[in-house]
Amino acid sequence: KERINEPVTKVLSFARDFYHHILEHTELGRPALDYLEQRQIEKETIEHFRLGYAPDNNLLAESLQQNNDFNTQSILESNIVSGTDSDLYDYFKDRLMIPITDDSGNIVGFGGRALHQQDIKEPRYLNSKQSDVFNKGNLLFNLSAAKQEISLVHEVILLEGYFDVISAWQAGVKNIVASMGTSFTKHQLGLLNKVANRVVLVYDGDDAGKAAIDKAIDNLNNQHNLEVLVAPIPGGLDPDEYIKKYGSDSFKKLVNKDRVSKYRFRLDYYQEGIDLKNEQELLKFIDRILNKFVDLKDDLVQKELYLKELAQISGISLLNLQNQFNQHVVK
Ligand code: ATP
Ligand code: MN
Ligand code: MN
Ligand code: MN
Repeated sequence: KERINEPVTKVLSFARDFYHHILEHTELGRPALDYLEQRQIEKETIEHFRLGYAPDNNLLAESLQQNNDFNTQSILESNIVSGTDSDLYDYFKDRLMIPITDDSGNIVGFGGRALHQQDIKEPRYLNSKQSDVFNKGNLLFNLSAAKQEISLVHEVILLEGYFDVISAWQAGVKNIVASMGTSFTKHQLGLLNKVANRVVLVYDGDDAGKAAIDKAIDNLNNQHNLEVLVAPIPGGLDPDEYIKKYGSDSFKKLVNKDRVSKYRFRLDYYQEGIDLKNEQELLKFIDRILNKFVDLKDDLVQKELYLKELAQISGISLLNLQNQFNQHVVK
């Protein structure tokens, strides 16, 4: 369990309010407000997530230094400013600021999105530096805010990115968290296990997202009390793009009705990009899928359902597939 560093939390809260104020009430915030409007983010959503804007200057560092509530050590430990005692400057510049809390709701850092077409040296997202206070692998974006909704339905929807969560929330889907990228850690799994019985993976519909789902399923498999479902997004879109293109109701349907079992997901995913008429590729596909199906050994109905389909796809008889399946189980 992370320990809460109070002076640092106070600095981070100050920064959150500062950025939020700049966004909403100053001329400096105009570009970020325009950006949010262009992404169709509403005022209520800005308030809920307490989004902000870090201007392209050192105003935060100066304000913190002038404020007697904060000492230089906690200012530096917050990682919101860099430099040395005598020369402090803002770490985030010209970025849309997304506050990140731990699972109890304490602010621990920020995700900062570049407003402009990024060049190579400016990453699209800059997060708070890794530290004792901010450890991305131990955090799930939006978990503290979504906890109630999650425990009401015993189900959590796991997304990849900040804007997927922000858009889904605006669309009325609220039992959502983001892993903040495609890797999903054991610690994050433990956090989910505490609040939900079921996880629905709604990662980006691109190749990286699908590969990440495949990996996440393996991780989640070690947690037998968590049911895993997948809602694949068509057309390579991410949830945010999908909502923009097809609307909130369509997203709700995708998440609630178009969800499939992890077996169905893999049956489809492992066929992608391979030529089933090529003998070697076909054999490899069968071996790979049977290997992933071994935990179906006691679920006779699902086992038959998916093996029958595999028989149809591959042209191998159900009987032989079943025999081969049994060999995988014994292995
Ligand atoms: P956009 O704002 O363009 O919609 P996104 O949220 O769709 O971005 P992705 O590129 O799909 O972003 O990445 C998913 C998530 O991974 C991001 O929301 C962010 O949490 C994390 N991420 C992506 N790129 C970086 C990076 N360069 N540094 C840190 N985190 C990143
Ligand atoms: Mn406000
Ligand atoms: Mn994305
Ligand atoms: Mn996106």
